[in-house]
Amino acid sequence: MTEPTPVRATKPRQVRPATEGWTQQKDAEGRPLLQFASPKRGKPPVHLADLTPEARVEKVKELGLPGFRAKQLEKHYFQHFTHDPAQMTDLPAEGREQFVHGMLPPLLTEVRRLETDRGDTIKFLWKLHDGALVESVLMRYPGRITLCVSSQAGCGMNCPFCATGQAGLTRNMSAAEIIEQIVRANRLIADGGLGDPRRVGHEGERVTNIVFMGMGEPLANYARVMQAVRVMTDKKHGMGMSARGITVSTVGLVPAIRKLADESIPVTFALSLHAPDDRLRDELIPVNSRWKVDEALDAAREYFEKTGRRVSIEYALIKDMNDHAWRADLLATKLNERGRGWVHVNPIPLNPTPGSIWTSSDVDVQNEFVRRLNDAGIPTTLRDTRGKEIDGACGQLVATEEDAAVAASVPAEV
Ligand code: SF4
Repeated sequence: MTEPTPVRATKPRQVRPATEGWTQQKDAEGRPLLQFASPKRGKPPVHLADLTPEARVEKVKELGLPGFRAKQLEKHYFQHFTHDPAQMTDLPAEGREQFVHGMLPPLLTEVRRLETDRGDTIKFLWKLHDGALVESVLMRYPGRITLCVSSQAGCGMNCPFCATGQAGLTRNMSAAEIIEQIVRANRLIADGGLGDPRRVGHEGERVTNIVFMGMGEPLANYARVMQAVRVMTDKKHGMGMSARGITVSTVGLVPAIRKLADESIPVTFALSLHAPDDRLRDELIPVNSRWKVDEALDAAREYFEKTGRRVSIEYALIKDMNDHAWRADLLATKLNERGRGWVHVNPIPLNPTPGSIWTSSDVDVQNEFVRRLNDAGIPTTLRDTRGKEIDGACGQLVATEEDAAVAASVPAEV
């Protein structure tokens, strides 16, 4: 009898993060550059949604009308999703256009719109007043309509997998620029533009869920994002949405997570973790060089303690990079060390880019990752990747548009 050949355990492949087709900006020490401050640019015009209810009344008076007109305008804009003076017949006809223009100056120009075949996912590319480009994605699910909004033009967090991170931070968006994305989406829904024409146009149907997972790091634009959240949730002077339906996500700006926990607005909080070990996360999410995995998880746990709201951990599953079984176990250990019942994990397969190091994990690997977390007592649900066919990942549409603009500006003979 011949001796069996010893089976050598194959070492799991470890792919390290690196940029493909672009060069990451680095600081003097060679670390990925983090940009927290918004570059100085011309500010967008002040809009109703930037102001507190009291400041709206003051502004209306400055424009020569009695303060109660502010309430009428709030209703037109936040409840009926209109900027059109012709529809605001309860406002005095004389000077109405100038008044409405003064309170609701145009903020977003639609540049492109991409839809899935069934029309239940729509991606918008918007141009801001200064030419900066941002995106939002509208998705119909059974029983809910979700809008993924941008909070910054560009982003200063420099994550190597992210199209938005490539160009750095152009500027913070104003609260009204954030709100306007929702108003425009609600207008489209009210006009029957989202999904199956037999089902759309339901009386009163509108965006029910907001996720701050478009362009930008929301907590790096804290004050304006919070003003936008206040407008979304204000039942008397705003949109009257449920705070629970609003998800504020971050790559881990710890001091801002703590601040958010003290706001007494119980939004859903999501930490985009993507790796449970500092060695990988330092490369994958450069802000980890400031606030480590454990610090970010401690802050997330504090959020749960202060608000009673269960925290979401977002985890993009990237083939051979962060999808190893031992990483699922390590993540489960770190979460369980901080208690039970406070957290939910949402792994999401990265949009597949065959041949790239940034591609989605194999299905059996995804399932194993999820199984290990669930077995360890951590509720874990694999998310679907909506919008694959329409450049669903954040920043892809802007990148495509900017490439097209560059191509268009290159003389033909070059
Ligand atoms: S992944 Fe998010 S935080 Fe990172 S660069 Fe992209 S937009 Fe910014």
